[in-house]
Amino acid sequence: MTASIIDGKAFAANLKEKVAQKVHILKTEHGLTPGLAVVLVGEDPASQVYVRNKNKSTVAAGMNSFEYLMNDDVSEEELIKKVEELNADPAVHGILVQLPLPKHINEAAVIETIAPQKDVDGFHVINSGLLATGGKGMVPCTPLGCIMMLKDRLGSLSGLDAVVVGRSNIVGKPMAQLLLNESCTVTIAHSRTRNLPEVVGRADIVVAAVGVPELVKGAWIKEGAVVIDVGINRIEKEDGKTKLVGDVEFDKAAKRASAITPVPGGVGPMTIAVLLQNTVTAACRQMGIDEPV
Ligand code: NAD
Repeated sequence: MTASIIDGKAFAANLKEKVAQKVHILKTEHGLTPGLAVVLVGEDPASQVYVRNKNKSTVAAGMNSFEYLMNDDVSEEELIKKVEELNADPAVHGILVQLPLPKHINEAAVIETIAPQKDVDGFHVINSGLLATGGKGMVPCTPLGCIMMLKDRLGSLSGLDAVVVGRSNIVGKPMAQLLLNESCTVTIAHSRTRNLPEVVGRADIVVAAVGVPELVKGAWIKEGAVVIDVGINRIEKEDGKTKLVGDVEFDKAAKRASAITPVPGGVGPMTIAVLLQNTVTAACRQMGIDEPV
């Protein structure tokens, strides 16, 4: 079997277009312009690129974008104060603090300061609790994007065997929860899992979120499975140049899977599109407006 490629770029472009239409309706019919505030601490080049892209996409969707750059020696108190200001600002409907934060700052303390209804990354414990109990919270962008692509490809996921490799709070755990909410039979595999090839080999859906280049081998994939590769790893090629690869051995997996996301161009582009969608959802909920469909 040769897998069809799940085109995350096209999917994201589509979602961004839908978000822009919703924003247009909110502006013209309700006088509401959703606003997203992004806080970046320090000068990590990768984080700077992410923040710049988020800003551009937010503006392109017709929303207000607020960007706060803080030095990497900013104190935890100052950062928390900034988040509290944004919590109180009625023009800001979504707040995102770009991770990772410098070592001297307690990430959890900062995230717990974000008002849960403005927590468009869905990392606040209230939002993870709501996700776990079937409530209406904010859902983390990357796993939500993965579920959208899976449902688009497979329709109902009910009863399917899903294996998530990785148990981080940002990707693995919320991904597993979302798959469970879709009535999959879910296994979470991690660094202590015994016989990973056998566990992965049972899955109709494999989601890899490990951060180890090509850890999931093509030969492990069940014929016809759908593979979502969340990993983004920069590796050096033989000629000394670098390239991005995922957590899945793409070429070999693509010969066994029925559908697979590439890296780059799969899950990555979806994350920003979902962030914009989450900001619209957050704005509508805060203003008591039904979200346009
Ligand atoms: P993390 O380091 O927080 O978690 C990695 C997980 O992988 C851990 O739970 C660990 O138990 C598991 N793991 C490590 N080695 C393993 C092994 N040998 N076998 C099985 N499991 C193993 O990483 P994260 O934040 O979840 O990110 C994972 C990957 O996804 C990274 O490459 C990251 O860059 C990427 N990522 C991409 C996006 C996106 O937008 N596409 C967003 C977030 C993360």
